[in-house]
Amino acid sequence: MTGTTAHWQNWGRTESADPTVQTPATVDEVRAIVAQARATGHRIKPIGAGHSFSGIGVPTDIQLRLSGLRGIVSADPDASRVTLAAGTHLHEIPALLAPMGLAMANLGDVDRQTISGATSTGTHGTGLAFGGISTQIVGATLVDGRGETVTVAEGEPDLAAVALGLGALGVLVDITLRGVPAFHLRADEAPGRFDDVLAGWSDSISSIDHYEFYWFPHTDCCLTKTNTRLPTSAAPSGPSRVRRYIDDEVLSNKLFGLLCAVGRSVPTVVPAINQLSGRALSARTIVDSSTNVFISDRAVRFREMEYAIPVAEVPEALREIRAMIDRRRYRVSFPIEVRAAAADELMLSTAAGRESGYIAVHRYYRDDPADSAAYFADVEEILTGHGGRPHWGKMHTRDAEYLRTVYPRFDEFRAVRDRYDPERVFTNDYLARVLGD
Ligand SMILES: Cc1cc2nc3c(=O)[nH]c(=O)nc-3n(C[C@H](O)[C@H](O)[C@H](O)COP(=O)(O)OP(=O)(O)OC[C@H]3O[C@@H](n4cnc5c(N)ncnc54)[C@H](O)[C@@H]3O)c2cc1C
Repeated sequence: MTGTTAHWQNWGRTESADPTVQTPATVDEVRAIVAQARATGHRIKPIGAGHSFSGIGVPTDIQLRLSGLRGIVSADPDASRVTLAAGTHLHEIPALLAPMGLAMANLGDVDRQTISGATSTGTHGTGLAFGGISTQIVGATLVDGRGETVTVAEGEPDLAAVALGLGALGVLVDITLRGVPAFHLRADEAPGRFDDVLAGWSDSISSIDHYEFYWFPHTDCCLTKTNTRLPTSAAPSGPSRVRRYIDDEVLSNKLFGLLCAVGRSVPTVVPAINQLSGRALSARTIVDSSTNVFISDRAVRFREMEYAIPVAEVPEALREIRAMIDRRRYRVSFPIEVRAAAADELMLSTAAGRESGYIAVHRYYRDDPADSAAYFADVEEILTGHGGRPHWGKMHTRDAEYLRTVYPRFDEFRAVRDRYDPERVFTNDYLARVLGD
């Protein structure tokens, strides 16, 4: 086996490994690496930006870095279709789509991820009329576990597996996205009270294009974010770039990082810090391009768990989490993030067949690991009680036995995997746990 050995760790510092690294520059090279691995009985794991918190991207033997496969492969602007090489990062896509007057319909919080990593784990943003990023996929090409190059086109049944495949079906080499006409967003941020925000949840997600809110544990304080889609003719407005830099980078990231570090050393002060932060929240409105509004910088490192539950059950689940935090006396410095997404038909989408509410909990990465794990376990117990589906890229402890009960198409996906990767060239411990072998 060729390649160099290198230490790898993920963004959240929850997983690490010392694999043999291969960096193919062409699809032929990907095919050759897969053929060699099959011949020698080695396992391959493609990796994107390493932004998954779960063990989904951990390599057993060979780590495939796809930084050599980036950019536009082909485009059909009249049909709003663009085919991107699999290693393309989300932050590279707006500039690639702009000359065609296109944008991605929806995005998550950050854009450091690759298109293949983000979609393989079901990365999503918010908006009850919008699916996760995988729902923007209308075709893909992959080198499967038999060493064959397979193109799955729009309308083919396997796309419902390949568009959100957990990296279990093969090495994606390109992905075709359906873009939308470029648009602007008006972002209205406002403070709110816990009970009011929960009471307004159903109305807010139904009437607002992209709604989300953060609740500050140990307080009544929430921050609501209301994003409304506008044509590109809407002039950008709001705080200047310098002001936004101060708000977002200096205050949100740098000061927040400092407060998390203080909270780690003296956990008892966390509720007081959260009260202070919650009271300091103020309203602001910004109009800007969709990407600039969707995307934030996350400079403070954290660990995260996120579950999708039926959208109507979000208020009750949050009340249970709040009561649990009080009862167990956890000290949680990170706000809890709450979002929504449309139902879709992808086999392993967290929103498969049901409109979903997402509840994400975070802990500062330097917090006591045992305390963080206990907190996540207690939240997990509440959310699985609501039929929760864990985000594939975030921390959770579920296995195939549980997941089969919440994914109606679970065994359909396993059958696709048996066809694409019968010898399990792409498996690792995480996939063995969540898919059952
Ligand atoms: C700061 C931060 C913010 C985040 N915000 C959000 C958010 O708003 N919404 C959300 O839903 N998630 C969010 N996430 C989670 C993140 O989007 C996902 O975990 C995503 O998988 C990361 O993409 P990546 O490129 O880093 O993938 P990696 O973590 O590198 O890989 C993920 C999986 O994709 C597979 N993979 C990668 N490339 C290929 C390929 N070419 N072929 C086949 N399989 C491949 C890997 O094998 C692995 O199984 C966030 C994570 C962080 C750290």
